[in-house]
Amino acid sequence: MKILRTAAEMTAWSNQENSQGRTICLVPTMGFFHEGHLSLMRMAASLADHVVVSLFVNPMQFGPNEDLEGYPRDFARDCDLVERQGGAVLFAPDHEEMYPEGFQTQVLVRKLTSPLCGRKRPGHFVGVTTVVSKLFHIVKPRIAVFGEKDYQQLAVIRRMTQDLNMDIEIKGHPIVREPDGLAMSSRNSYLSAGERQAALCLYKSIEACREQVRKGKRDSLRLIDGIKIILQSHPAVAIEYVAIVDEITLTDCATVDRHSILALAVKVGKTRLIDNGKLIIE
Ligand code: AMP
Repeated sequence: MKILRTAAEMTAWSNQENSQGRTICLVPTMGFFHEGHLSLMRMAASLADHVVVSLFVNPMQFGPNEDLEGYPRDFARDCDLVERQGGAVLFAPDHEEMYPEGFQTQVLVRKLTSPLCGRKRPGHFVGVTTVVSKLFHIVKPRIAVFGEKDYQQLAVIRRMTQDLNMDIEIKGHPIVREPDGLAMSSRNSYLSAGERQAALCLYKSIEACREQVRKGKRDSLRLIDGIKIILQSHPAVAIEYVAIVDEITLTDCATVDRHSILALAVKVGKTRLIDNGKLIIE
């Protein structure tokens, strides 16, 4: 596996491989890998000749009071894990390489970024779409894989590639969970033992909501009220949002149907966690 640090080296490698007819699948990440990231890498390996994993903790997508400084990092371990998944390149640029002096361009997807996480994290998605656009231009992949864990991000990236005629296929990967249901996240490392237990309420409320839907309850506002009661029963948990939205437009659904997603964001102690799931599984 190669570790490349500059955009020029990365693009030169990709040009060479693309000119030989070998396809590249990109997995963009912020590192501190867990089994969720590794599953994305394995999916990528099944879709293309080469897997390129990018590792960049992107300051543009963090708000001023968020966890940029403390974001967990372990570069040596991450390199080892990419190598073991058969990754061809780990692209790990530094801040100067991605945002050199004079940098001033942003990519903005409008409507899809306003609800859910966009409401609480202004500027987050513009940071995501800007860095992902840069990565797409630098790495020149045929395919890119993103996790459904960050459901809104996936929807926004799909929209961006379509709107800007980027010739890259976007693949979503299902959420990878711990055996007890907690969605894997680099940020789970922040949780104390008690918070880790409380964090299970996210998955439990998705399951409880699915059960209500199975019993025929379809009124979103009532279902959301039920979920809020579950979440509020944990003193360490503060709700950021609970929403039932259409899987494509991310607009609120008044009644649940086959296209409805339950999306949740909470703070457990100081740690912000998100989760989501379809309410009717066919
Ligand atoms: P991150 O390093 O957290 O920015 O995540 C990099 C990619 O991995 C994103 O596309 C995430 O959606 C995806 N990802 C993170 N956690 C999970 C998970 N538990 N299941 C599936 N995908 C995930």
